[in-house]
Amino acid sequence: MKSIKIFLAVILLLGCYLCVYTTVHAILGNALENHRYVVVIDAGHGGIDGGAVGIKTGVKESDLTLEISKLIASYLEASSTIDVVLTRDSPDGLYSEKSKNKKLDDLNKRKSIILSYNPCLVVSIHCNKFPNPNRRGAQVFFSNTNESNNYFASILQMNVNMLNSKYLNRTFSALMGDYFIIKCTSFTSALVECGFLSNSEDEKLLLDPIYLDELARCIHAGILSFVLNIIC
Ligand SMILES: [Zn+2]
Repeated sequence: MKSIKIFLAVILLLGCYLCVYTTVHAILGNALENHRYVVVIDAGHGGIDGGAVGIKTGVKESDLTLEISKLIASYLEASSTIDVVLTRDSPDGLYSEKSKNKKLDDLNKRKSIILSYNPCLVVSIHCNKFPNPNRRGAQVFFSNTNESNNYFASILQMNVNMLNSKYLNRTFSALMGDYFIIKCTSFTSALVECGFLSNSEDEKLLLDPIYLDELARCIHAGILSFVLNIIC
């Protein structure tokens, strides 16, 4: 009789455990499935500020950054866990025509957009220029405003280094950089200089839709890798 009671008690406890386990698992599972991560993609420059200019064709940095940003956004939008915000989705700058300091207003508007979305990540897209026309390659910059910035920038750099290896036969390290957009908030941020418009070979690559697609895929892969491994 005593052994039957013990047996029933064990069955009861096991039943309770399974019931609690299933409920907790279901709640956690739903929470993870329903959680969405906001990623802000910031297309550098725009409007009166065209940024750097292509050494051969005169292509504007602001047009390239918009194109690359839209490509990255299109890949991120395919992910069921990421919501993408573009700080700009047209050639226009983020200021009013009446503004007395359009560049300052533009930067402050970008900051307010980032703050309003409370993002998991911010990625600003730019193209570089340098007095020495031999400088080439895609390089990622970070600020020390967040402990994750260096790690995130390194992941992005590792991904764009696949293109640096393929087209330049060399790689780079992510570097600390003094840029407003990656230090104006405490959200994990990085700035990608996609290549040098002061170098004709980089300019040619940046005008090649195949290269732009490869670049966008690399940046997208870096973002996904950070989101999936770190959980912002
Ligand atoms: Zn720029």
